Amino acid sequence: MTEELAARLHSLGYRLTPQRQFVLEAVEKLGHATPDEILAEVQQRSSAVNVSTVYRTLEVLEELGLVRHTHLSDRAPTYHSVGDHEHFHLVCRNCHRIVSVDPHEVAPLAERLRDEHGFVLDIGHLAVFGHCVECEEREEDDA
Ligand SMILES: [Zn+2]
Ligand SMILES: [Zn+2]
Repeated sequence: MTEELAARLHSLGYRLTPQRQFVLEAVEKLGHATPDEILAEVQQRSSAVNVSTVYRTLEVLEELGLVRHTHLSDRAPTYHSVGDHEHFHLVCRNCHRIVSVDPHEVAPLAERLRDEHGFVLDIGHLAVFGHCVECEEREEDDA
């Protein structure tokens, strides 16, 4: 993984610094994480890293196609690794659970948007808000 990453960075004119490696590994470990959460994770390994380093590193990693971001709240963007598989997000407004869903679930929509609206959907950035059925049931119990 590290060698592959180093080769990829190198081919694009970047070096694999420990910071870049730590940030990428933190994103992979955390699944979906804000820059602050990534910082906390990275600082366990290197106290020399601050939040602006994390932001800059995330920008580089996103340019390189190694991480993506989406907006799961009104606050900071949330980053995820693209090492696993492409996905979009279902976000419960009540319990803040994030469910990653395979892109083929929205393939018919993506096709229609392309054919009928001349628009290409950015699936990895997509977050759909609502609430999970468990939360809905809990609310009905409370009522
Ligand atoms: Zn994601
Ligand atoms: Zn919920």
